[in-house]
Amino acid sequence: RAKRHGPGRVVLADPELTASLAEQMGLEEQLGEALRTDGLRLHYQPIVDRDRTVVSAEALVRWPHPRMGLLSPDVILPIAEQGNLLHELDLWVLRAALRDAVGWPRQARGRPVRVSVNLSGRFSAEVDFLDAVGAILADSGIDLHRVVLEVTETSLVELSAAARDAMHALIRLGVSFAVDDFGTGYSSLARLKDLPAQVIKLDRQFISGLETQEADRAIVRSAIDMAHATDRRCVAEGVETAAQYHLLNELGVDAHQGWLFSRPLPQADFRAVVAGGPLPLPDHQP
Ligand code: C2E
Ligand code: MG
Ligand code: MG
Ligand code: MG
Repeated sequence: RAKRHGPGRVVLADPELTASLAEQMGLEEQLGEALRTDGLRLHYQPIVDRDRTVVSAEALVRWPHPRMGLLSPDVILPIAEQGNLLHELDLWVLRAALRDAVGWPRQARGRPVRVSVNLSGRFSAEVDFLDAVGAILADSGIDLHRVVLEVTETSLVELSAAARDAMHALIRLGVSFAVDDFGTGYSSLARLKDLPAQVIKLDRQFISGLETQEADRAIVRSAIDMAHATDRRCVAEGVETAAQYHLLNELGVDAHQGWLFSRPLPQADFRAVVAGGPLPLPDHQP
């Protein structure tokens, strides 16, 4: 059963139901077709510096389905997984995002404007996949210092030596890796020191408790300090209130992403936002 949550949003609740339902409805086949015909869309969520200059955007996939409306990643990704299309999806998104980003302003207030692309969890063991990523990056013509690849903490911990080498080769070309949803996986501090990542994205579960939970504040503070001690940048995810923004800046965070500043936007709107200068600090909550 597909439940509607607000305009154009469909959520398939039970994962088992999802799998069989997806099959019955031919969704895997339709997703494959959408990938082959460029039938997916990307939205871009601005990421701002401490002074709210737009310095980056995360590409987030959407599927405008003819009958079900605009489908979001929580629906698309399980279908892709089920249909063995995850790699193809990731590579499609990477290609499309780089094509878009080539046309953005390269700098905002003298800082490079980057594009951030998600790579699915189990890619890490697969050097072939990283090679395919490298080939797409090379073809795109983008300055690789403007590219961030988001990977999960868990995938980095299980990294094979060959995959680690492939990542380091990309890093030498200028690419950054970001640990997505940091704090939700299980990496020890010792392992963390060696992760081939330049950016840490603090999961929004810690941000939402920042104002009221002393424990969350301590976790965020130590994550930021740990990132800086190991020469990494720290981005906060899911920033929804001005109080969170101020507190995060006090704790030394490098950048913010969240509904306080902007929801994910169609590409044309994102370009306009970059050109428009620093984002205002809304005084009401979204
Ligand atoms: P993520 O990488 O942690 O991406 C951020 C998600 O948090 C996005 O949801 C975004 O809309 C949402 N978000 C941003 N700010 C706020 C906020 O202030 N409050 C709240 N409650 N949510 C906020 P989205 O687009 O539904 O993406 C969900 C997840 O799906 C992403 O989490 C990412 O892991 C995955 N994903 C999205 N696009 C792709 C893709 O193209 N490829 C792959 N492999 N995964 C993707
Ligand atoms: Mg992400
Ligand atoms: Mg994230
Ligand atoms: Mg997250």
